[in-house]
Amino acid sequence: METRLRIAIQKSGRLSEKSIELLRNCGIKVQKGSRSLITQSKNFPIDILHLRDDDIPQYVHDGTADLGILGENVLIESGFEVPTVKKLGFAKCRLSLAVPKHVDYSGVNYFEGKKIATTYPVLLKKYLDEKGVSATMHEISGSVEIAPNIGLADGICDIVSTGSTLFSNGLKEVEKVMFSEAVLISNNSLSEEKIEILNKLLFRFDAVMSASQNKYLVMNVPNDKVDEVINILPGMKSPTVVPLATEGWSAIHTVIAEDKFWNIIDGLKERGASGILVVPIQKMIM
Ligand code: ATP
Ligand code: ZN
Repeated sequence: METRLRIAIQKSGRLSEKSIELLRNCGIKVQKGSRSLITQSKNFPIDILHLRDDDIPQYVHDGTADLGILGENVLIESGFEVPTVKKLGFAKCRLSLAVPKHVDYSGVNYFEGKKIATTYPVLLKKYLDEKGVSATMHEISGSVEIAPNIGLADGICDIVSTGSTLFSNGLKEVEKVMFSEAVLISNNSLSEEKIEILNKLLFRFDAVMSASQNKYLVMNVPNDKVDEVINILPGMKSPTVVPLATEGWSAIHTVIAEDKFWNIIDGLKERGASGILVVPIQKMIM
């Protein structure tokens, strides 16, 4: 029988779309909107198990799933020791402590003897222990941010990304407990055959992820400025320089990290670069 990898992803929530999109960008055909627990890819030996994110660590730990995609926060909170194979760079957020915005907050000792509502008791306890603060934790399963308003707690410990939920509930972020992003986790004892498929999958993940972090940069530069322009390019390899039909001009092609582009754009213009194109890259094999 053909060996297939079973990967658990979030059934519905903030991670589901992005997880499916990552697989799709890897050329793996996945049925969307399927209500079944398990779906099969037709063109890659992978089956997808759709679960609540909280259940993913246990499934991967027990080997019911070989791999899983979930937030690091949920993984650590679960207490299951399963290896993280790769950080996936999406669903970035932080677990933070927040208090009503009128509170005169001077430091983490504020929480001494106070009541904190959270869905992350394990992570919160670890943090408070490290800081030597003893507080009462009130574990609730949803809408943590309303707890202070209804008098259930003095503060909360919850996931924050932009902070707008806190803001609209009259709260302010005061401490960052941990930073989190989506990760790929793996069962500890995959067979050789499964590891082989995992490596193929990781190769594709790498190609897709490097592509999304980089851009293809093309521009026209006067010949006497080509060396100077090359000097300010933080390119990964030496750029391609091609003469243009117009005498005295060349085209420079290179790959650049997206976040570096804005730092060099003024320098490029000062050196006479024109017709600058920044083009998305679909896949990048290093
Ligand atoms: P499930 O029904 O699967 O248990 P859930 O309600 O626990 O879903 P979601 O709200 O879908 O989970 O969030 C999933 C993960 O997305 C979080 O654990 C966290 O890692 C990440 N995340 C990123 N940004 C945010 C945010 N602004 N709020 C909440 N979670 C976020
Ligand atoms: Zn959950």
